[in-house]
Amino acid sequence: MHADIVVLPGDGIGPEVTAAAVDVLQAVAQRFGHQFSLHEHLIGGAAIDATGKPLPDETLAAARDADAVLLGAVGGPKWSDPNASVRPEQGLLAIRKALGLYANLRPTKPHPAAMGASPIKPHLLAGVDLLVVRELTGGIYFGERTRTAESASDLCTYTVPEIERVVRRACLLARGRRGHVTSVDKANVLETSRLWRDVASRIARDEFPDITIEHQLVDSMAMHLLSKPRAYDVIVTENMFGDILTDEASMLAGSLGLLPSASLGEGCVGMYEPIHGSAPDIAGKGIANPYGTILSAALLLRYSLGLSQEAACIEHAVDDALEAGVFTADLASDGTAISTREAAAAVLARIATPARIAG
Ligand code: NAD
Repeated sequence: MHADIVVLPGDGIGPEVTAAAVDVLQAVAQRFGHQFSLHEHLIGGAAIDATGKPLPDETLAAARDADAVLLGAVGGPKWSDPNASVRPEQGLLAIRKALGLYANLRPTKPHPAAMGASPIKPHLLAGVDLLVVRELTGGIYFGERTRTAESASDLCTYTVPEIERVVRRACLLARGRRGHVTSVDKANVLETSRLWRDVASRIARDEFPDITIEHQLVDSMAMHLLSKPRAYDVIVTENMFGDILTDEASMLAGSLGLLPSASLGEGCVGMYEPIHGSAPDIAGKGIANPYGTILSAALLLRYSLGLSQEAACIEHAVDDALEAGVFTADLASDGTAISTREAAAAVLARIATPARIAG
């Protein structure tokens, strides 16, 4: 297979972790006889510095023409002046919107070897395997905003079609899993949540009689996610709730640096990125955990290129590296932490040596 992949390293640790994932994609191409053309473009703060825009036209055009997009992270103190009119995060929101990427899939399955890094008790983590489907192009992040000297407002809007398509996507994904969807809202307070709950109930009832659906308020969900995480299969929720709940869910896995994501639309290019940000506190030190980005590359192969075996090869290689205790500083507790490059090298070695990738 030949595939064109646009790589958007972004800011902070973004270039460090995407470099690791690019090496892994090239290793997979070599092992399985594919040709991946990888082209880097600017986004975020790096793009503001070079062009004045967080999402240059050239980057968006390249992304539209590509088979898939791999992104690192954007943002950082250099561009975080609250009064700035141009900000890195605008580039991220704009590319998601422009590519129509309304469903953000964030799987969390704690690896036994990394459970020691989680603040949650191991007996609560055993068997946890959940998938958060976060709505990505609507809600308060995209609403009209106002600011005066005395007040500010952010408008949260959802339309019926926006809710229908993401709930439908969650139900379809649940069908390939354990068949249970938890829809998260704040229907006791917010009108958008009451609409969300009505639409989610109708879609599940009319189109997915084989799927069970329950509704959970976001505040109690935040608690149950830690107290009984095994109870959940697919969780579908609106943009901001999903953003917050998945950072919380990363603590089940042990580190924000472990979690991948896939952003998908309707038959268009998909975008793949770790769920973490640009981590300015560790940027440039070569110690960032690259596994979340490497696992995002696996999702890219599975969802955008249909290469399931190749995706599984990467996932097994990361599992195997974790099993062997190949931990970056966010996971290591005893002074044995290795660097981003060493972690990537451990994955590359396992991809190149199929015998080590059992199962
Ligand atoms: P963050 O996710 O960057 O970092 C939170 C904490 O997790 C930090 O202590 C960081 O060192 C650690 N961490 C994150 N990724 C890690 C990794 N791969 N390995 C080891 N440790 C890791 O969140 P933040 O500090 O709140 O935000 C920093 C910047 O990132 C802000 O400008 C924010 O707007 C931006 N941001 C971008 C995205 C994105 O690009 N998708 C997402 C979230 C935040």
